[in-house]
Amino acid sequence: MPAARVLIDGPNELVFDYAIPEGMDARPGCRVKIPLRNRASTGTILALAKEQASEFELREVLELIDPDPLITPKLMQMGHWMADYYGAPMELVMRALLPEAVRQENHSEKTRKMVHLLETPDEEAMTKLSKRASRQHLILTLLQAAGGKMPLSDLGAGASASIKAVAKHGWVEIKDEPVRRDPDAGEAFLEDSPLSLNSEQQGAIEQVFKEIETPDKPMLLHGVTGSGKTEIYLQAAQRCLDAGKSVLVLLPEIALAPQTVQRFKSRFASIQDQVAVMHSNLSQGERFDEWHRIRNGEAKIVIGARSAVFAPLTNLGIIIVDEEHENSYKQDTSPRYHGRDLAVLRAHIENSAILLGSATPSLESFHNTETGKYQLLKLEQRADGQSMPIIRIVDMKIEGRKYKGAGPAILSDPLRANMEKKLAEGEQVILFLNRRGFARSLQCPACGLVIECRHCSIPLTYHKSEERLICHICGHQAITPRKCPECHDPGIRFQGYGTEQVEGVLQKVFPTAKLARIDTDTMRRKHALRDTLKAFRQRKIDIIIGTQMIAKGLHFPNVTLVGVLNADLGLHVPDFRAGERTFQLLTQVAGRAGRGELEGEVIVQTYTPHSPSIQFARHHDFGGYADQELEFRRQFGYPPYTHCAVIGTRSTHQRRAEFTLQNIHQRLKKDLPQGMVLGEPLPSPLVRAHGQFRYQLMLLGSSARQLSRHISNILNQTPPPDDVTLVFDMDAMGF
Ligand code: ADP
Ligand code: ZN
Repeated sequence: MPAARVLIDGPNELVFDYAIPEGMDARPGCRVKIPLRNRASTGTILALAKEQASEFELREVLELIDPDPLITPKLMQMGHWMADYYGAPMELVMRALLPEAVRQENHSEKTRKMVHLLETPDEEAMTKLSKRASRQHLILTLLQAAGGKMPLSDLGAGASASIKAVAKHGWVEIKDEPVRRDPDAGEAFLEDSPLSLNSEQQGAIEQVFKEIETPDKPMLLHGVTGSGKTEIYLQAAQRCLDAGKSVLVLLPEIALAPQTVQRFKSRFASIQDQVAVMHSNLSQGERFDEWHRIRNGEAKIVIGARSAVFAPLTNLGIIIVDEEHENSYKQDTSPRYHGRDLAVLRAHIENSAILLGSATPSLESFHNTETGKYQLLKLEQRADGQSMPIIRIVDMKIEGRKYKGAGPAILSDPLRANMEKKLAEGEQVILFLNRRGFARSLQCPACGLVIECRHCSIPLTYHKSEERLICHICGHQAITPRKCPECHDPGIRFQGYGTEQVEGVLQKVFPTAKLARIDTDTMRRKHALRDTLKAFRQRKIDIIIGTQMIAKGLHFPNVTLVGVLNADLGLHVPDFRAGERTFQLLTQVAGRAGRGELEGEVIVQTYTPHSPSIQFARHHDFGGYADQELEFRRQFGYPPYTHCAVIGTRSTHQRRAEFTLQNIHQRLKKDLPQGMVLGEPLPSPLVRAHGQFRYQLMLLGSSARQLSRHISNILNQTPPPDDVTLVFDMDAMGF
């Protein structure tokens, strides 16, 4: 008898095999009823086994809940590709394909009782009612006014006897009706109309229309910040809807891009029932409803983060991946897929157009336009006719020496003077610093000790408002010591600074300015970010100081100055993409300035003013930057010229993590295929996190397929000891 591997509903995510009874058409992706201990439970079939694998008698599947799998055949095809390419077990792939909210029965449809008016008594009867049973009369009148139906709860708690009475007469009926849990309920979106495109945009959209008609090659839309890429997305989406096709829009970290979602919701306000959103801020119930609205064809536009690449749309016209260079498209647990890469694959499988957009394309995508695999669409001008902001570099080696105050040099003279000027003119300022908290670390000047996390190999960050040292990796908290725990020197000092300290400095320097700080510490409350941005737009705030939460996609016409406090933060990390990231971040942050009628200015504070990523960003020179960076990647055989895989081991026992990886290294080395380069097993840059020691090695290979197959083979032959976890990250983005 064939068997089914079933993922059982419930918090424990148990997986058991069950026999499939004769004649039951059970397929992967179908939900089933199964026996669990001595009661019936529900679950989802992950995979089928041809022969009954175990010698034990398997218990049988009781009932098939879905006659058809919840996953479309095309998505299933993508799932198999993922399992193969990312070396992930099919079980984990299925979990990614089908969100928990959809698999688990308890989130199922929410219903409410509705009272329907079946017939109204004639006038005479109504008059009688109004005298003898005024409540019944009122109910009927209310229903009439409401157009024939209303929720039972709206008729008031004390009305049940009267409702029973009018129901008995056959005038009304009570029915259960599904209610949609709408994540944006209570928000009004004003409809806006398409803009008439400028000639650059016109050129791009014509190509996009052609691709929607007959998909041929992926498109990379490289448009400077403010060039009107979003308008292209909107008009492309409209074209698909007109042709009866559906649209998938992926955004990185959607909670950080409320403006883009809003623009889609506004443009399609008249058909808002056809727009669905999928992101991590949804409740399970909202997620369930949105998923089913997509599956049953009600929603034709889906806007979502990485995992929305699995949205069960059919008849796709276009997939749009905004900010395609963003690292947050990479999933950091197995299956470690890249949302953008899966989007390209899905477009191929579904025969749909695919449009990747960015002001700072990833070198992978840009390289693909050079080899002719992708086509390049360019927008070089800002859509509102504004010039690109002027970027000035401030050398903090010199500025820092001038600085006489207590604590670190945070605001250079040029930045401070410029802020004064802009604020005096009633304009707004954004300051960017990619580190939250007050001070980066606590260090003893006598013995040099830096206070580190007990579970991770990084310094603890001081948070003033909590008066605590907090680990930014695992969240561990510690009391701030008054003297060095090692040598007892009382001179222990804070080093470096974060957004919290900047906020304090700004309060002193600009006492009358209204400030807001945007980082994960201040934005914990649901809608906190949305509300703060709204206040900023209404000019109730003068200065925003924020982390990468404010780096992208925000559009404020009155912001004329953007300050980057420490451009070097991302540069000195052991990762060949460090320069690429710094260039992207600076360009994106700078793009927040001068987005209206006023000209924009950017001041970048740095200790390495001559580093190429800073210089090319300063000159808005993506081409120059890409040329030199690609040359560097080519010389060293790094992506995009190869694929890069990272194998890691993690364990609470340092030696075992290290030894297991050395063992794998030996095996990989023994029969290393041609065209692959094997790195040494080394401690990870973050050698300890969450109490686990981490070791890793890098493998480069010119053929992705060959690389991932080879690694999967070796890993399958080398199962790790129980207390060591293996990580296999194909096309790794971080180290
Ligand atoms: P990007 O997404 O490339 O950063 P946006 O789509 O945010 O750029 O466009 C920047 C601004 O220009 C927005 O305010 C947008 O409404 C405006 N805009 C875009 N296209 C046009 C156009 N064709 N005519 C006038 N304004 C436009
Ligand atoms: Zn920690």
